[in-house]
Amino acid sequence: MVRAPSTNGSRFELFNLDLDPAFVLIKRSGAKVVGVQVPDGLKRMATKLARAIEEETGAEVIVSGDPCYGACDVDLDLCRASDLVIHIGHSEMLEGGPLTDKVVYVEARMRADVREAVERAAELLTTRKVGVVTTVQHVHRMEDIVGVLEKKGVEAVVRSGGERARYPGQVLGCNFEAARNMYVEEYLFVGTGQFHPLGVALATKKRVVAADPVTGDVSVVDALPMLKRRYGAIARAGDASQIAVLVSKKPGQQRMDLAREMVNLGREHGKKMLLVYLDRAEPDALVNLGVDAAVCTACPRIALDDQAKYQIPVLTPPEFEVLLGERKGDYLLDEIE
Ligand code: SF4
Repeated sequence: MVRAPSTNGSRFELFNLDLDPAFVLIKRSGAKVVGVQVPDGLKRMATKLARAIEEETGAEVIVSGDPCYGACDVDLDLCRASDLVIHIGHSEMLEGGPLTDKVVYVEARMRADVREAVERAAELLTTRKVGVVTTVQHVHRMEDIVGVLEKKGVEAVVRSGGERARYPGQVLGCNFEAARNMYVEEYLFVGTGQFHPLGVALATKKRVVAADPVTGDVSVVDALPMLKRRYGAIARAGDASQIAVLVSKKPGQQRMDLAREMVNLGREHGKKMLLVYLDRAEPDALVNLGVDAAVCTACPRIALDDQAKYQIPVLTPPEFEVLLGERKGDYLLDEIE
């Protein structure tokens, strides 16, 4: 077990990384060049990780300097330049390609004890049977979560999350199947940040209590402000005549068929549509295209989480269907299956 470097005041000390299986694979495969991909939040660990790999295996290490947003985001150029790629921080998602077969996933596990936050969150629950969901950083604490709830007299339901999620109860920013696969009226989300619990609320339309084991904060999720922002973006896109449909080059975000569907749908409604293939949806790139709005078929978080970065409205595919009058009823969260 290699511990994440501990540095004062940094968040690295929050994680454990087990590099031992990766060391074994590197040695067994005889890899001479090893690529390393690290998400931005852990990027400053890269130097120590590179050194640890070089010292342990004798392989040359190349660190990807590009951002890495998730397991979907495998650096294919780095795969071409390396014999093996160590992808840090996310759980395995992609299989079966000649390049992605080279990737070894090393998950980052948060050291935070979840029990206190779950105990406090249990006080906010209104039912005796709840769905439990979390992110990969806390899945190893699932037994603790379930144990605390049981002691409080609450039945915890944990379901598998489909093909993109590796562990029962695991949700991703683009996939909430683990939450939808059950009959409950309420959920407990354990983890950091606001996006995932909001996603659970939007995907299930049920009450969600969130427990953050790092800050200790517990809260009931309010999805209304997000919904208002999304319907605001749809309304602003109403006047757009030139619309880009964004398709990601990232292997786990690429939805070309869906993008073509959106292009055709837009054209049927008299819009000028432009299919755009890109690695990252940078705000300047969209401005330079001269479009009035965009439909993003890449990571759903680009539209939902990052809208403030863009000068033009960026819609998800279901939101674009609402704009065109092709979709009615409750808000549908964009997910990748
Ligand atoms: S598509 Fe987005 S939310 Fe899904 S794994 Fe990739 S970066 Fe995360």
